[in-house]
Amino acid sequence: RIVFLNGSFLPLEDAKVPFMDRGFLFGDGIYEGIGVLNGRLVDNEAHLERLERSLREVRIANPYSRAEWTRLEEELVRRNGMVEGFLYFQVTRGVSERDFFFPEDAQPTVAMFTQAKSIVHAPVAETGIAVVTVPDLRWERRDIKAISLLAQVLAKQTAKEAGAQEAWMVEDGFVTEGGSSSAFIITKAGAVVVRPLSHAILPGITRKSLLELSKEEGIVLEERRFTVEEAYDAAEAFLTSASNFILPVVTIDGRPVADGKPGPLTQKLRQLYLKMAGAPAMA
Ligand code: PMP
Repeated sequence: RIVFLNGSFLPLEDAKVPFMDRGFLFGDGIYEGIGVLNGRLVDNEAHLERLERSLREVRIANPYSRAEWTRLEEELVRRNGMVEGFLYFQVTRGVSERDFFFPEDAQPTVAMFTQAKSIVHAPVAETGIAVVTVPDLRWERRDIKAISLLAQVLAKQTAKEAGAQEAWMVEDGFVTEGGSSSAFIITKAGAVVVRPLSHAILPGITRKSLLELSKEEGIVLEERRFTVEEAYDAAEAFLTSASNFILPVVTIDGRPVADGKPGPLTQKLRQLYLKMAGAPAMA
């Protein structure tokens, strides 16, 4: 497996980050995750735009232009012969003696790897997944895609131990988002409901594409917060992320969503998204 680290493509075993990297010591960095389908990056421009925003917000200088990022990403996909899966990269504030203040001379650390994964034919796309709700314990700038993910690690482990595959995080009675995904419900009247963008959630790229597709299809959208009770009572529920595209949610806290099967509008949205992402037509 070939990874990218600070300007070089090299075998994973040889890719070493210094002990004093601020990513390791402080979680001082940001990241991106992008879906790959048929060897092509899905929605790459939007991901790079979010990357630029995250770097600006945490005041790390962007080491590459958008064209350079794209060239590096595409070369890594090519070198790994990756057809379908996930491309991850992170940028940390670099290496220096441990001190909270920004180092004056450090160069950002850039690390990038790929993970092969079936997204289109994932079994969970057929069966749907279980989610459990947990308190949202994160900081107040969740719109920044920061590598410090301790709250999500704990939330998702709690979900796993409860027999679920994702955690839906809750603040003031309202669902914010999934541990690593955007959360949606569909009302009995057929409206797709998703929390509006703010500092409280990550601006999901899959969320954004899905909203555009839904608009084109004339599906009713409600960008507003929804409560846990409303989710229990929804006609359908689903999540979106770059590594899964769209997955039906069939139980919440052990309660089936409607009949406990993936909903028809969710399945339609998944097909629309797959088509947009360039998946071959499904049987
Ligand atoms: N919210 C959170 C907290 C996430 O970690 C992710 C996945 N990175 C998402 C939403 C989904 O965003 P995207 O569609 O850009 O993967």
